[in-house]
Amino acid sequence: MEENMNTMMPTYNRIPIRFVRGSGAWLYADNEDKYLDALAGIAVCGLGHAHPRITKAITDQASTLIHTSNLYEIPLQEELANRLCELTNMDNVFFANSGAEANEAAIKIARRHGDNRGIENPQIIVMEGSFHGRTMATLTATGNRKVHAGFEPLLSGFVRAPYNDIQAIEKIASNKASSIVAVFVEPVLGEGGVVIPKDNYLQELQRICDENDWLLMLDEVQTGNGRTGKYLACEHSGVVPHVVTTAKGLGNGLPIGACMARGIASEILIAGTHGSTFGGNPLVCAGALAVLDELTTGGVIERAEYLGQRIKTGLEKALDGSNHVKEIRGAGMMIAVETTEPCPELIQRALERKLLLNVTADSVLRLLPPLNLSDEEADQIVEIVSGLVESLGDE
Ligand SMILES: *Cc1c(COP(=O)(O)O)cnc(C)c1O
Repeated sequence: MEENMNTMMPTYNRIPIRFVRGSGAWLYADNEDKYLDALAGIAVCGLGHAHPRITKAITDQASTLIHTSNLYEIPLQEELANRLCELTNMDNVFFANSGAEANEAAIKIARRHGDNRGIENPQIIVMEGSFHGRTMATLTATGNRKVHAGFEPLLSGFVRAPYNDIQAIEKIASNKASSIVAVFVEPVLGEGGVVIPKDNYLQELQRICDENDWLLMLDEVQTGNGRTGKYLACEHSGVVPHVVTTAKGLGNGLPIGACMARGIASEILIAGTHGSTFGGNPLVCAGALAVLDELTTGGVIERAEYLGQRIKTGLEKALDGSNHVKEIRGAGMMIAVETTEPCPELIQRALERKLLLNVTADSVLRLLPPLNLSDEEADQIVEIVSGLVESLGDE
């Protein structure tokens, strides 16, 4: 077969399974093996695979108009921006094609905010353990040496602080408040291991930002779109940021990202300062509108909250007293079992049990299932995952 010729850059360590079809929470390989998908394309397919409402919106739009460019007005883009602003209390939206690109827009807003205030060397506070993407600016913002390695020189203008550490931010504020323009942070660390913010962490960040005239910018690329049981994860804390980015679940698999801004931050990217050829074209906007319809009118976000609790308490019960478990934590349908030793072997073992999941930060087994599972599917995940964790270290 020709398919295995090495004509693709080897940027991924791929698992040798070829999915050819999906339905709801299930994926079918070319040999007809059937897998329960507890990863959803890394938090992308929040409504599952081949969702009828989204499929219809996309196919209708594809047969009508796919792309016109941002040289012209795009009614579907305006409609999507209105819907997003209603949902998030933000004032306006820039559409990109990915999470990293949405974050690039946020970083440009922060730098320009500094420029507008006469700050020559603007600095953005970012967190250790964070992940913001793979472009040069977003990999610089990312708090993981492995993502930086070999790509130096990194961009200047970023200051790093430990996550969940308000004192570290206070210290930066007292030392160099005048060169800081923004704090850029994930409300729950995703790739960093599903790290939940401490009580009041986000509120305290907002307070410090307000006191110092800094922008609070949240990366909700992974946590947005109902993943944590609210449309945005920051709703759990009542924080309304100046800038918030999202992507992954917004298109349920279509490439779309959004950078939303409020107040002063919404007036920064004026004509000629930023752009994207594909961003927010009619096709992806039609798909994203169907996603928002389903999330909000289909009761999916409330169900994500319920299912997340069901899976988390199910795991807590099944793994009670297990000496392989360091911590079980989660926010809605972002659920993690941190094990006492590295657990990458569980990926393969899960495949043998026809379950898709992921291991991040070496010892964090991560579940990001579709938000609309049946109770039975949720219980099936609990049963398989608890068995896997108990098998850790077995031959
Ligand atoms: C996945 C992710 C990104 C990068 O998104 P891409 O679409 O891969 O560019 C950025 N931030 C967070 C929090 C993510 O989880």
